[in-house]
Amino acid sequence: MSDVREYKCPSCGAPMQFDIEAQCMVCSFCAGRYDLDYIRSHFNEVTDEKLSDFDWVERTKYVWEPDVLEQLAEYTCSSCGGNIITKNIISSARCPFCGHDVVISSNFDGDLRPDRVIPFSRSAEEFAEKYKEKIASAEYAPKEFSDPSVTDRIVGCYVPIWLYSFNCGTDVGTRGKVDFRIKDYPILGTDIKRDIFYSVAPFMYDDSEPFTESCLTGYFASRYSIGAEHAMEKADEEALGVCSARAAAIVGGDYIPGQMKTKSSVSHKELTYFLVPVWFLNVAYKGVDYTFAMNGQTGEFASPKVPLNYKSKLHFFMLFAFLEVLTLILSFMWLKMDSISVLGAIGITLFFVLFFATTPVFIVSMILHHFLSKKKVGGLKQGSEPNVASIAGFITQVR
Ligand SMILES: [Zn+2]
Ligand SMILES: [Zn+2]
Repeated sequence: MSDVREYKCPSCGAPMQFDIEAQCMVCSFCAGRYDLDYIRSHFNEVTDEKLSDFDWVERTKYVWEPDVLEQLAEYTCSSCGGNIITKNIISSARCPFCGHDVVISSNFDGDLRPDRVIPFSRSAEEFAEKYKEKIASAEYAPKEFSDPSVTDRIVGCYVPIWLYSFNCGTDVGTRGKVDFRIKDYPILGTDIKRDIFYSVAPFMYDDSEPFTESCLTGYFASRYSIGAEHAMEKADEEALGVCSARAAAIVGGDYIPGQMKTKSSVSHKELTYFLVPVWFLNVAYKGVDYTFAMNGQTGEFASPKVPLNYKSKLHFFMLFAFLEVLTLILSFMWLKMDSISVLGAIGITLFFVLFFATTPVFIVSMILHHFLSKKKVGGLKQGSEPNVASIAGFITQVR
């Protein structure tokens, strides 16, 4: 079996791509349309290599747990025979010689095969619209962000995640037992932009498809690099801590770690390996990458904290200078009322303003600038980083 798979039109042989609007594979030449079920059977994808009773939880000890990764790997294009060189965890690529998009199917074989995929249903154009709207509302955004060519760099990525559900039972000594259920907690299967990913999550996992490689054509995709065992271990640990504290609070008021004996254990683990769609846009500014993202299924948009341009600094400086001079004049006038000499008044004023008033004036300027410039920052996030969902948000008490 070849490592690389290209989806060619069954009637004319031209390359096909997943079409977001039509939600099926469309031929780039004859516009023929083929739904994913047809593609699955026609291309005989390797679904049967994974046993039907395959269970990630049971098999974690035996399946591939990645260690040292990120080497370069070489593949042969199935159309022109050219060499495609890419990182070994990247699962889709474009042949540099013929421009055809291929899927590196060896990254989805057997135990590496995702269970389910959520195809893109929101387009890059929608993301570009949302992005432009945000930037247009912000007069203070640096021009690197409003450059019209920026949105050409939008990329669609299938991100590997583990969807983890399990029970956590907590014994609080003689005071009883509390049971919790953790449902659909997404764990990133790769090391990419954690905060950004969690700020566009969750996805509607029920609207997913049994996995097929075909819909990855033309998008970036990578296989997991954080294995099932590792993912579960971390989540279990986190859940045990949160559940112990909650159980103690439920049965006996205040929880003081170490004071109350609680014993928690996890059970009923269910783990599903998903590829989920996310649009990304990186904007480089002064050597730093700012990543915007949109959920490719729900349209949830996330922006990073964007730096402000020189106009913002200039306005702040003008405000500060104005308030400082005002303070100088006012204190001079106030001192003059005591009818001391002009020179004496100037001296005391300078001393007072420079040594005591500058810091408060600076702080007042910052507060004023923050409120006055709110409109010029527009829809851009300032001050707070995107939310990272913690496991606490996925826990419900069952009993
Ligand atoms: Zn065709
Ligand atoms: Zn090629």
